[in-house]
Amino acid sequence: MKAKIKNKDFLHKYLVLDHQARVITVFSTDVVNEYCKNIQTTPVSIAAMGRLISATLMMGSMLKGKERVMLSIEGNGPIGTIRAEADSNGNVRAFASNPTVSVPLNERGMLDVPAVVGSEGKLSVRKQLFMKEPFIGTCELISGEIGEDLSYYYGVSEQTPTVVALGVLANQDGTCKLAGGFIIQLLPNASEEAYETLEKMLKNITSVSKLIENAKTSDQFVYQLFDDAELIFEYPVKYQCNCSFEKTKVLLTQLTKEELLDDLNKNKGIDVTCNFCQKQYHFNNEDIEDIIALKEKNIYNVK
Ligand code: ZN
Repeated sequence: MKAKIKNKDFLHKYLVLDHQARVITVFSTDVVNEYCKNIQTTPVSIAAMGRLISATLMMGSMLKGKERVMLSIEGNGPIGTIRAEADSNGNVRAFASNPTVSVPLNERGMLDVPAVVGSEGKLSVRKQLFMKEPFIGTCELISGEIGEDLSYYYGVSEQTPTVVALGVLANQDGTCKLAGGFIIQLLPNASEEAYETLEKMLKNITSVSKLIENAKTSDQFVYQLFDDAELIFEYPVKYQCNCSFEKTKVLLTQLTKEELLDDLNKNKGIDVTCNFCQKQYHFNNEDIEDIIALKEKNIYNVK
């Protein structure tokens, strides 16, 4: 089966190398631009967040049904904590502590992602699984490039030989020119030969963004890497936050009773802005009373 869809922002999953490896590819330029729309960003911040968003979308495609995955990086760079969350249907949302960070280009004249993310710190993956306890895996950062760090994570934390390659180009005006990437995972039946073929192929890749640019459409991307790619599934991807008034209300039960009573006495209500989509929620006194009641009933797990 060959992919027919020509839309730009798509995720595709294939079997390659005679069914000895699987490949996920994603084009996510519009998704990243949707992320940039409501916040102030810089080109290097777009590069970092574009990589994170693309990676998380691909990780989401490894889940089923209503499961979700959250990828967080807490590095020692000036962008602070960066986080993206995706589901198995191609929806993603993302957040950076300091998206207005700016650093000089690196010695090759490229956006210096490790300089903003930091090369020391922690990468963590949290998967909200169906009918199971959440899965949490962590590893140390090895470079702050994100793709490299995630490849390392798969090796040490999930014991799966994985290559994660990400590419983002940003415009000076705070928009994304191009974003996407691929993940290759060798399957347990992979032969020594498959390992070698893959190694050789990866050595020849100098720029992931060039590959994306050359492909023009998402369904053509994989054929620059593998001739024998066999499509398993594909779906469009988009930026979508799943926040709501009710969910935010539940989050507010984490305030102490004293803080809530204090807000109640001030009579101004509580204003909350969603970190992921900048949507604003206002809670009036009646809502605050509800929150206190919720807190007392100890209902923390409303979905
Ligand atoms: Zn939101």
